[in-house]
Amino acid sequence: QCIAVCPTGALVELDQVDKVWKALNDPNQFVVVQTAPAVRVALGEGFGLEPGTIVTGKMVAALRRLGFDRVFDTDFAADLTIMEEATELVHRIQHGGRLPLLTSCCPAWVKFFEHQFPDLLDIPSTCKSPHEMLGVLIKSYYAKTLGIDPKNITVVSVMPCVAKKYEAARPELAQGAETADVDIVITTRELARMIREASIHFDHLKDQEFDHPLGESTGAAVIFGATGGVLEAALRTAYEVLTGDTLEKVEFEALRGMDGIKEAVIPIAGRDYRIAVIHGLGNARSVLEKIQAGEINYDVIEIMACPGGCIGGGGQPYHHGNMEILAARAAAIYREDRAKPLRKSHENLAIKGLYKDYLGEPYGKKAHQLLHTTYTGRKKI
Ligand code: SF4
Repeated sequence: QCIAVCPTGALVELDQVDKVWKALNDPNQFVVVQTAPAVRVALGEGFGLEPGTIVTGKMVAALRRLGFDRVFDTDFAADLTIMEEATELVHRIQHGGRLPLLTSCCPAWVKFFEHQFPDLLDIPSTCKSPHEMLGVLIKSYYAKTLGIDPKNITVVSVMPCVAKKYEAARPELAQGAETADVDIVITTRELARMIREASIHFDHLKDQEFDHPLGESTGAAVIFGATGGVLEAALRTAYEVLTGDTLEKVEFEALRGMDGIKEAVIPIAGRDYRIAVIHGLGNARSVLEKIQAGEINYDVIEIMACPGGCIGGGGQPYHHGNMEILAARAAAIYREDRAKPLRKSHENLAIKGLYKDYLGEPYGKKAHQLLHTTYTGRKKI
């Protein structure tokens, strides 16, 4: 394990490539990898492809070549997150719970919140982030299916994010199974390096598909990678659950784009939902301070630390603030969504099967035990 240091020495990034090679070379370990939505629209840049090139099939093929025993999609768990988070929102509204509900899939945002707003710890959603949800399911449900001791399974997450490395080490994220939900996190850049180290000709690879069933996903899950995507995905499901009608136009344009703070009022089943989408922690602080002071009210807020959301994450190929690169990655995310036969999380057949066979009801007892978490108030810094 070595540490990569930024030129000023102000930031360090834990390099875990060696740990992944070690797991892959251990005959006693069944090594499962999962990839976040934003990775597939940026990984190609590490091989000279244009920003916004979608390389999902080549990425899966490369991961199999590297020796992973299963290649799953964090998008599956993004659909699961929507099932849990949309149900949590409806539950809070119907039972007089505290609002706004804040999304919780960005660990940099969660850590910031724990330090800066410890008096508001009851408002973030209790949902784990998608890769942690998938990790715990691999170590419990999937381990049982295969008859493998979870201690002999290594879960590797490929993320656009350096904060996910810290998140995977949080002690409360090791409670749902016998071992940590996720064992190792590498970034998009680290994966590109591994592919080069293995002398794989990335651009010559033939497309392959994710393994089943934890590789099934909808368009709603893909858009998690761009700012506004989590709430757009949640609305696609909440609308149909609350109205019983089919949502014909699934795009919520008001939640898209690169404005730091976007607001919308969306009427569903006779109630107006006040929504905000924020990226950048400075923007998040200003909105949270107004909420603290009772100056503004929302029902639900999506917050992502990085510019543009995860497409602009700290683990992605460097973009140096180039907005054209971020726009090309975002456009690719929305192209991938449009190309999916299913675009609403609750239509994911593998998710339906998982609830039926294993989890029970969304936001129910077993789902809580495995898929939800807690937060800790920390010293203000
Ligand atoms: Fe990580 Fe940035 Fe995405 Fe947050 S917005 S999860 S810090 S990549």
